[in-house]
Amino acid sequence: MIQKELLDLLRCPVCAKEEKGTLEYFKDTWLICQDCARKYPIWDDDIPIMLIDEGDKWQATDKEALPVPPPHKLNKKIYCFILTAFCGNIKA
Ligand SMILES: [Zn+2]
Repeated sequence: MIQKELLDLLRCPVCAKEEKGTLEYFKDTWLICQDCARKYPIWDDDIPIMLIDEGDKWQATDKEALPVPPPHKLNKKIYCFILTAFCGNIKA
């Protein structure tokens, strides 16, 4: 379960510049952009993968056809993203 405060902050990285990029919290496992229909998976119930690559991958998929839970395919890009997101505040 993602905290509501975090959800309120998250926006679609593609649309946030020009549109609202508001995200719909869907089945506790996906965030769906209301402007472009890109879909961002949430891993382990609390790790939103806000990568454009991931959003693109699911853009054409109907939301009812989204796999729940989202498949975990950890590649280097996502691994770096998670590390940055969760360790960004830690100062060496
Ligand atoms: Zn969008």
